[in-house]
Amino acid sequence: MDQKKEIETLDRQYIAGTYKRFDLVLSKGQGSLAEDESGKTYIDLGAGIAVNTFGYCDPIWIEAVTKQLSTLQHTSNLYYTAPCARLAEALCQRTGFRKVFFSNSGAEANECAIKAARKYMHDRYPGVRQTILTLKNSFHGRTIATLAATGQEGFHQHFGPFPAGFDYVDADDTDATLARMAKPDVGAIFIELVQGEGGLYVLPKAFVTAIYDYCRAHDILLLVDEVQTGNGRTGTLYAYEQFGIQPDILSTAKGLAGGLPLGATLFGEKTADVLCAGDHGSTFGGNPVAAAGALSILERLDETLLGQVREKSEFILSELSCAKGVRSVSGLGLMLGIEPERPAAEIIAGCQARGVLCLTAKQKIRLLPALNIPDALLKQAITVLKEELAK
Ligand SMILES: *Cc1c(COP(=O)(O)O)cnc(C)c1O
Repeated sequence: MDQKKEIETLDRQYIAGTYKRFDLVLSKGQGSLAEDESGKTYIDLGAGIAVNTFGYCDPIWIEAVTKQLSTLQHTSNLYYTAPCARLAEALCQRTGFRKVFFSNSGAEANECAIKAARKYMHDRYPGVRQTILTLKNSFHGRTIATLAATGQEGFHQHFGPFPAGFDYVDADDTDATLARMAKPDVGAIFIELVQGEGGLYVLPKAFVTAIYDYCRAHDILLLVDEVQTGNGRTGTLYAYEQFGIQPDILSTAKGLAGGLPLGATLFGEKTADVLCAGDHGSTFGGNPVAAAGALSILERLDETLLGQVREKSEFILSELSCAKGVRSVSGLGLMLGIEPERPAAEIIAGCQARGVLCLTAKQKIRLLPALNIPDALLKQAITVLKEELAK
């Protein structure tokens, strides 16, 4: 049996069948190029779902990570360590948030955001404010609480009963949302500014402004899920900067540590001191190796790099917006969705055969390349995608 067949057989035999995988075994990568087990290379426009911020095995990131790995790979959160303290300082200084809790994934960062919001509501409005609103078509994770927060019926099958305390509003309907927020049970609203899994839908700025103003006037917490949009992905360090708002709580993960598991929940002025000793914790959260990787990534997400993200985004938009076989292009920065005329799966298969990897989101083709993808590679990949879209 060849190596590819063997790995696929083992995977299907021994790994729980939760993933519908592409027919591809990736064995290594460098920058924006991934290589399969036969040595064929692919330009990767998915970056491990927005995780590999600077692509595969970036040398500067490797140096930061391996230095920490051979110094102190882990200790418990019973002790102070430098990397997570310095990372928290950098995150706060770059954003205006005041405190950070570290975890290991997006769902965990959201779980912490939900817990903190609930404690704030419970402390200030006991027995009254018990509902966190989320948006229809949102995605907040796979744990039971974050599934409950996810405003899609499809995610609410099989796993009930779900925790109470969530209700869903329509991002297209400002009036209905404000009316729901005016009910006494509401204490927080949790949104993605660009719905990722939901199909690269950018929330209308007027909607975001309206709920932000209402939140501030009525002491309702605004929670923003930047698990996917964060860490330079949309052309600013965090997407909220482009909406003229300052969230009370922000969650992020995916690209934060450039390929290592790390989640972060950031607390603003109102929420900085909500969680106290014993309220929350995580054995691996703030792991020094992941934190060292994240610090190295964050230092490089400067204005020059973010400008390049916006330029690459413009390039993709100008190439694909009016291209043959394209109904629409949506998204922000290097988080883009293409609505094709043909089924997305066919186009993605065509691209893969020609050495280009893309993702999907609902009926769309989703592009989440490394933020530093070289222009020549990006151009080459977009040419292939364009040709497949036009077929
Ligand atoms: C990916 C994602 C999550 C879940 O993150 P995990 O690390 O898979 O738990 C939550 N929210 C958004 C917006 C995401 O894109």
